[in-house]
Amino acid sequence: MADRTWDVIILGGGTMGTAAAWALSLRGASVLVLEQFGHIHTMGSHGGGTRIFRHAYAEGPEYVPLMFRADDLWCSLENQLGTSILHRVGILEMDAPGYDHAKRARASAERNGVEFEWIDAAEIRKRWSAFNPPDGWEGGYSPIAGFLDVEAGLSGLLAVARRGDVTLHADEPVVSWESTTGGVQVRTAKGAYSGGKLIVTAGPWAGDVLSDLGLPLEVVRKDNFWIDVDQPALFQPGVFPVFATASDIGEVYGFPIFRRPGIKMAEHRGGETTTPQTIDRLAKDEEAQSCVDLAAVAMNGASRRVINGVICMYTRTPDDHFIVDRHPAKPNVVLAAGFSGHGFKFTPAIGEQLANLALDQDAEPFSIFRIDRFG
Ligand SMILES: Cc1cc2nc3c(=O)[nH]c(=O)nc-3n(C[C@H](O)[C@H](O)[C@H](O)COP(=O)(O)OP(=O)(O)OC[C@H]3O[C@@H](n4cnc5c(N)ncnc54)[C@H](O)[C@@H]3O)c2cc1C
Repeated sequence: MADRTWDVIILGGGTMGTAAAWALSLRGASVLVLEQFGHIHTMGSHGGGTRIFRHAYAEGPEYVPLMFRADDLWCSLENQLGTSILHRVGILEMDAPGYDHAKRARASAERNGVEFEWIDAAEIRKRWSAFNPPDGWEGGYSPIAGFLDVEAGLSGLLAVARRGDVTLHADEPVVSWESTTGGVQVRTAKGAYSGGKLIVTAGPWAGDVLSDLGLPLEVVRKDNFWIDVDQPALFQPGVFPVFATASDIGEVYGFPIFRRPGIKMAEHRGGETTTPQTIDRLAKDEEAQSCVDLAAVAMNGASRRVINGVICMYTRTPDDHFIVDRHPAKPNVVLAAGFSGHGFKFTPAIGEQLANLALDQDAEPFSIFRIDRFG
């Protein structure tokens, strides 16, 4: 049986589990993180190397303060570690005629005082040689947005967490957990562990780990592709921003060249419903069609050659809002799930919320993140 009792045990040391460990460590808690794979991997929701960070957020007003908090926290982590995590290369959001994704971002930017310059297709072509949108397309440019380096972010959070009393057991899947009035018991094939609180941050596995709750979660198969470019100089961070588009082709977005050849592109919409156990993990070149089509319609110098692809999973809720709450029947269990393909930017701010929910009896979840909204 366990030889010590941890203040908090975290089930799942991926994105949000790492952030929770970091936030708990800053508050002086003892923490055991149990992760079924290595720390940082491509089997769940954080694979693919980079994530967009943008401030003109149309998904709901509640996200705006959370995003500014996350921006501050990412920056202070960078300063503390002397490393780069948030690359502020700017974002260009473009709408084809009849689409309003960028327009909704512009409305959010206006409400929240975020710099977001509205420009037409001719101006876009003039400013960036790599973009060639047809006449009629319009877009907004926000210079303070950019992308997060996933590996630098998560390994940075863990490095700071480990300065406190935080232990990570990698390659140790949790096979069962229970909550009693006195605390929580967690079992793996290697041992049994006792804690005061349990935080479940199991990503696409959350539905299985929390099967008692019957959460309305849908796991969706998503792919990221690296597309070869003929003139790499046009696609470097600094001269080429992150971009997001809405058009007949889909909601295709992409990144400058970073750490490996080619520009990473993906389609936000669609994807097959799947499970982490049965998902087809092989990315096929023909699945890159919308990325290649977008490059043909709106870019200069991007080829049709797919260099590589990585499969990843969204875990969607019916309203695409997150779940960050206490277990309704087990108050010593806190959970974060259903990040619906847009959670990474908020990571350290979600870590703080999880630490508060676990350590402070009076802490309340954000209303849009509550479980009881599902009835
Ligand atoms: C293709 C793609 C693109 C995205 N783009 C963006 C973007 O541009 N901007 C943005 O903000 N967000 C983006 N996201 C979303 C973001 O990456 C996710 O919201 C976030 O990574 C979810 O974190 P998580 O902790 O829930 O899941 P994960 O990071 O997958 O962590 C869950 C962890 O739990 C572990 N686990 C599960 N079960 C067990 C068990 N029984 N025992 C031990 N460990 C277990 C898993 O191994 C995993 O490590 C994107 C996601 C995808 C898939």
